[in-house]
Amino acid sequence: MRSFTYERATDAQAAVAAVSRTGAKFISGGTNLLDLMKLDIEKPSHLVDISRLPLRDIEELPDGGLRIGAQAANSDVAADSRVRTRYPVLSEALVAGASGQLRNKASTGGNLLQRTRCPYFYDTAAGCNKRDPGSGCSAIGGFNRIHAVLGASDSCIATHPSDMAVAMTVLEAEIELLDADGSVRRVGIADFYRLPGHTPHIETVLRPGEMITSALLPPPPAGRQIYRKVRDRASYEFALVSVAAVVSTDQGAIGEARVAFGGVAHKPWRSIEAEAALTGRPATMATYRAAAEAAMRDAVGQGHNDFKIELARRTLCRTLAQAARAS
Ligand SMILES: Cc1cc2nc3c(=O)[nH]c(=O)nc-3n(C[C@H](O)[C@H](O)[C@H](O)COP(=O)(O)OP(=O)(O)OC[C@H]3O[C@@H](n4cnc5c(N)ncnc54)[C@H](O)[C@@H]3O)c2cc1C
Ligand code: SF4
Repeated sequence: MRSFTYERATDAQAAVAAVSRTGAKFISGGTNLLDLMKLDIEKPSHLVDISRLPLRDIEELPDGGLRIGAQAANSDVAADSRVRTRYPVLSEALVAGASGQLRNKASTGGNLLQRTRCPYFYDTAAGCNKRDPGSGCSAIGGFNRIHAVLGASDSCIATHPSDMAVAMTVLEAEIELLDADGSVRRVGIADFYRLPGHTPHIETVLRPGEMITSALLPPPPAGRQIYRKVRDRASYEFALVSVAAVVSTDQGAIGEARVAFGGVAHKPWRSIEAEAALTGRPATMATYRAAAEAAMRDAVGQGHNDFKIELARRTLCRTLAQAARAS
């Protein structure tokens, strides 16, 4: 690891001021950033520790939603009784991620900004446009079993690894950001993440120096919420494919449906196509399969990950059947 300087921020405004210096970076729980620093992938010259900022609370919003502070630990959010009863898809997604110890350290802001698990990104001997722009993509034509089948580009086929962000996508969360000039803006999570295009190293619309202060959940949508994660082993493993769904039914027909996939794209993948194929249709397996076909219509495999396309279809069908049964 390279040498760096360190300071602990005492308030949010001081934190964004401190990080505006060249080479500075925020550190929250450090569960992703420190690993990347040890591997010489992230090379900050100065760390601004924001883990003790008073941004840990989960608060009621006047509209019936919740504000989750950026420093709220993943385990605290998952265990919060309001999250468990009103936003179970979020609680289920968080519990499906990492391990108990990691969830105790991992913050809401850090989880949103964790980097990809593409093995070539972690291998400094390999070409990787995300780590080293212009150096190529070793995953294309390489071992690409965990990679994207939707929204990929000729420059990068990586996936976003967060479970929490997939659940927040069907909940239509907004991310609140604080800039060094004191201005605050909110970005819908659908617009927060970018597809790789020719600039896979730019993963979000976050401006240099901006800090996430909270995630805002609107009032819970009607219907049953479910998160289903498929992975190589039952715990301590990232998603091959995951589905977050919210489904309401009325007399055997689907009312509203929201669907997002994890593990298939550079960002949590909301499937408007699947939702359109579900709304107003009978709650039957034929409908779920049609929605799954619609969701994966533009999917393209890279060889080793071809299986993900059918896996995503089947995971969606199973999740929808479970949600419709219970709603
Ligand atoms: C073995 C292992 C297994 C895992 N399994 C899963 C899994 O199954 N599912 C899953 O979703 N995740 C998993 N994770 C990832 C884990 O959830 C993330 O490492 C964690 O959420 C990151 O949060 P952190 O607070 O530690 O972030 P840090 O490591 O401190 O920071 C991550 C990045 O976010 C930036 N950052 C942090 N907070 C802010 C903020 N408020 N504003 C702006 N920038 C900020 C940092 O500068 C850094 O670039 C796993 C991690 C490990 C090590
Ligand atoms: S898929 Fe993206 S992260 Fe992986 S090697 Fe290619 S450019 Fe790098």
